[in-house]
Amino acid sequence: MSTTKQTAPKQGGAKESLNTLCVQAGYQPANGEPRQVPIIQSTTFKYATSESMGQLFDLEASGYFYTRLQNPTNDFVAAKIAALEGGTAAMLTSSGQAASFFALFNICEAGSHIVASSSIYGGTFNLLDVTMRKMGIETTFVSPDATEEEIHAAFRPETRALFGETLANPALSVLDIELFARIAHAHGVPLIVDNTFPTPYGCRPIEWGADIVTHSTTKYMDGHGSAVGGCIVDSGRFPWQEHADKYPGLCQPDDSYHGVTYIERFGQAGAFITKATAQLMRDLGSIQSPQNAYYLNLGLESLHVRMPRHVENGQAVAEFLQAHPAIESVTYPGLPTDRYYALAQKQFGHGGCGVVSCVVKGGRSAAEAFMSRLRLFAIETHVADARSCVLCPSAHTHRQMTELQLAAAGIPAGLVRISCGLEDKADLVADLRQALA
Ligand SMILES: *Cc1c(COP(=O)(O)O)cnc(C)c1O
Repeated sequence: MSTTKQTAPKQGGAKESLNTLCVQAGYQPANGEPRQVPIIQSTTFKYATSESMGQLFDLEASGYFYTRLQNPTNDFVAAKIAALEGGTAAMLTSSGQAASFFALFNICEAGSHIVASSSIYGGTFNLLDVTMRKMGIETTFVSPDATEEEIHAAFRPETRALFGETLANPALSVLDIELFARIAHAHGVPLIVDNTFPTPYGCRPIEWGADIVTHSTTKYMDGHGSAVGGCIVDSGRFPWQEHADKYPGLCQPDDSYHGVTYIERFGQAGAFITKATAQLMRDLGSIQSPQNAYYLNLGLESLHVRMPRHVENGQAVAEFLQAHPAIESVTYPGLPTDRYYALAQKQFGHGGCGVVSCVVKGGRSAAEAFMSRLRLFAIETHVADARSCVLCPSAHTHRQMTELQLAAAGIPAGLVRISCGLEDKADLVADLRQALA
């Protein structure tokens, strides 16, 4: 295993250096080695002696033995994301869904309880509300705008994590990370934050107190609609040992792994990701393919160049729609009228991403007619891509939710989610204008 390799490089930390980290962090070739991250397209790795491979299985030596658990290409890219987020260790997963599940299941088991913001991605809501419930893991949902007292009241003795989304997809509500972290820590549990929409370019949740950060790298990080993937980053800050009774998986011997105690062997900085790799990847097998990790790295190399354009286009589109008579309302945290404007300015410094929501007057049928007249914005089950696209959550991604659940997640039936790509903002606005005419 080689989680300790994933430690963020020394230049990590300062916001100014993110531009450089996007390009160079994670992979430092030695003399004569490829300049570009190599794709290690191999399921397995060769060892000279039985003993040297045995040490890997005992987690005594660092190295690779089977790509279901770990692959060097993935680790190079995970190390870049750890550096971008300011974490101590990271791992790539096959999807954002796998990242959310692993981040939670790494510290939960049957009988555990989770408190989660109700304003989260539909797939994550389903994972918590249906699938993990079937596994005996209960979730209580709280509004991201609930009072501190209301959020405290959702906690139980069995609560093991507080979960939220920095900038929710598709509701575009902004999580008050400092507040949520304070509440989680008062109950001795970590705050796990899905930071997919702002990316570390827009927000570094660890700096605001989050303990674990997850990503759907499928979105802005890849940025080109090429590869589904996910990532988990550990801040290395949560004191598992102080709450050892709650986290036996980290603080007591793992019988399925020769009695290793992760917190003792790998410390606070490495225990979480090592356990998720050694145990969850081994048993549940949701690794990202090295080829996809390579595509993800290409995306990351320009993240800091692309994100400002996404935000600029999102802002222009939001301002245009807000002034248009056919539009009932616009949600974009970069609009001064938005309820999350101040929080977005504080945490992101801008609107956060290129995704804008609007409610078209006339409900779902008017929204669908509007979408079908668009030329540059394609109707797609995707978001956060170089090419602009649109989607109607109640008709597409969130159609499994009831009206009440939709309302709790802040999703009106006529809502259209608009993902502004990297095209010219004047062309995007012109396309929206003709489709609304
Ligand atoms: C898309 C998305 C996910 C799920 O990611 P996949 O890569 O599609 O599995 C999770 N969280 C957020 C915020 C997302 O936008």
